[in-house]
Amino acid sequence: MKRSEEMTFWEWIYIPEILRGLAITNFHFVRNLFLHTAHLFGFKKDINATSTTQYPDERKRYPDNFRGSHRLTLREDASVRCTACFLCATACPAECIYIEAGEYPDRSVEKFPIRYDIDTLRCIYCGYCVEACPCDAVRMDSGTHPGNLGFGRKEFVETKEVLMKRSEDLAEKGKEGLYEEYVKPYRHV
Ligand code: SF4
Ligand code: SF4
Repeated sequence: MKRSEEMTFWEWIYIPEILRGLAITNFHFVRNLFLHTAHLFGFKKDINATSTTQYPDERKRYPDNFRGSHRLTLREDASVRCTACFLCATACPAECIYIEAGEYPDRSVEKFPIRYDIDTLRCIYCGYCVEACPCDAVRMDSGTHPGNLGFGRKEFVETKEVLMKRSEDLAEKGKEGLYEEYVKPYRHV
């Protein structure tokens, strides 16, 4: 194997780097083993041991400014605010918003979405849809959590009903209430 000019001889043979990596790994392994054991018996509580989040049994608290969940906002009469103008779907770089527009019997009133789906497996959470909306009908605001959506691909498509329900729940339970609901199925926070 030819040695590149930027590499020293010791880098080229890899062995010192492999040994260095093993030393770091073993240092943390032994340190954590010692500290976790000491914590069990009530010692060294002031020194933190590294711990791994035991996902999915355990979840980390999201930062307060987490905005990883969409919702469709509602009018005062609880109908959907969206007018099915397609601007969000056009702005979406992941092409993950699917809208079917419907018309009210009174043609002077703007349209509404019969269907409004967001495929969260394709979404890159860029927020362009929120910025594109001229009537504040779609939001990704803090305090809303997607939770465990399911185990099949179809369950990760958030429908109009799901997105509207999120707005209803937020109005009813508030951000803290939604968070408590979100963490309830998990043993630890
Ligand atoms: S956040 Fe971005 S990727 Fe996701 S639906 Fe909105 S525009 Fe599309
Ligand atoms: S959410 Fe806003 S941008 Fe998207 S279709 Fe509805 S009104 Fe238009």
